Amino acid sequence: MTPATLQSSTHSTSTREAYEQLLAHIREAGLIGGVGAVLSWDQETMMPDGGVDYRGKQFALLARIGHQMSTTPRIGEWLAQCESDKAFMNGGSAECAQVREIRRDYDRETKLPETLVSELAEISSKAQHEWAEARKANDFARFRPWLEKLVTLNRSKASCLGVPSGGEPWDALADTFEPGCTAASVTKVFTPLREQLRKLLCDLAAGSKKPSNLFNETALPVDAQMKFSRMVVQAIGFDFQRGRLDTSTHPFCGGSHCGDVRLTTRFTETCLNDALGSSMHEAGHGMYEQGLLAASIGTPLGTAVSLGIHESQSRLWENQVGRSRSFWSWCAPKLSSSFGTATDSFTLDALYGAANIVEPGFIRVDADEATYNMHVMVRFELERLLIDGSLEPKDLPAEWNRLYREYLNIIVPDDRRGCLQDVHWSMGAFGYFPTYTLGTLYAAQFFDAAKRAIPGLEAGFAHGEFKPLLEWLNREIHAHGRRYLPAELCERVTGSPLSSECYLKYLEGKLRPLYGA
Ligand code: ZN
Repeated sequence: MTPATLQSSTHSTSTREAYEQLLAHIREAGLIGGVGAVLSWDQETMMPDGGVDYRGKQFALLARIGHQMSTTPRIGEWLAQCESDKAFMNGGSAECAQVREIRRDYDRETKLPETLVSELAEISSKAQHEWAEARKANDFARFRPWLEKLVTLNRSKASCLGVPSGGEPWDALADTFEPGCTAASVTKVFTPLREQLRKLLCDLAAGSKKPSNLFNETALPVDAQMKFSRMVVQAIGFDFQRGRLDTSTHPFCGGSHCGDVRLTTRFTETCLNDALGSSMHEAGHGMYEQGLLAASIGTPLGTAVSLGIHESQSRLWENQVGRSRSFWSWCAPKLSSSFGTATDSFTLDALYGAANIVEPGFIRVDADEATYNMHVMVRFELERLLIDGSLEPKDLPAEWNRLYREYLNIIVPDDRRGCLQDVHWSMGAFGYFPTYTLGTLYAAQFFDAAKRAIPGLEAGFAHGEFKPLLEWLNREIHAHGRRYLPAELCERVTGSPLSSECYLKYLEGKLRPLYGA
């Protein structure tokens, strides 16, 4: 053995050790995040009102501990050692991706002072409770001081993170949820999309026919809806050995890791599609979490890549699968086992039509596929202005209502059905909303690629064959964690950069025939 190789092998052993220590530390910090995730699931589903104040303090403590663990200078030292070893960092290895992503997180976290992190955690936990009360009472004034605090804290956060050159404060916040996302890049996609959707909505409204909404107005017992939703969620591939499904006001997917995924859904007396849509949506998120590699728990490669990609998984199962004719042809004969004769009179055409009703409404989470993105665009416009200071929180309701009139041509009757409807801002999450539309576009593009890769994919749904799709998603998307950045992942999986082309083709191809437009 020559001295040179001896030296290099000694060096690479110690780099390996530094890397292993780095990962062990990151995994431990991940445990704190997991504890917080279970507590937030509890807050949304089980916690009595009396728990609010103390839970806020618990979150603040966890945020402080988590922040200390993810900003310790040891991380910087381990990272520097790995990065300086060219042989170790060579090529597109898993280790290289782990180091790159841990660096990204470390650089971001170390820019944020601990007091800001802990204050944001405590205020947003309390603000969520105040928001829920304000929404119940249709009382914006009650929520306003909390919104003001959260906007101020997020402006500070943006300035600590640093505004990218040529960008704006909103970009710094959005990048946390969707790496590389900027207001300018979102605007570039949203502006033409808004015009195309506006035209489609006009054409559908003037179409020669309209699907009947009767199925969505048929009273069905809530416990039977729960049973049916669980059956569907299990059939599409959500693993109940590693997850649960409960109810909450605002459906979400939480939990601490791929072995413990917590979904929630919600029920109304009259609309199975509401419960089914929410359940399949959250199951899509849940199956992404369950599809992350157990061996990489707590590290970037065992973590979802971005909220936009996360949302693509939920919307793909909710829409491309759950609103397809072949899905309903599988579903229809199963309805009677849960609902007896109540659904006997609905033909496959009627069920498929009812799943695809387009009707501008006030509530984002109730929106159909064609109007949904308009709701997202309103929120994007507003949060961008709130964060750069050109819109004051007190003026939010009026501006919200004005944009709803402009984008969806509807008059918002009250703040409960207006600017108080979403939980996000009360959680301190600004820069989050556009990921819903990005996810919608990714979903259509991924589904298009899946259809090319799996012959007879859609036809298989009619026979309950959902496994080929889930396995494809597991392999192409879930198993990579954060190995590729969202834009890179999209190109690898679909062969093209993200665009709204597949989405518009899919949407128009489905809705125009249903509406004779
Ligand atoms: Zn979602």
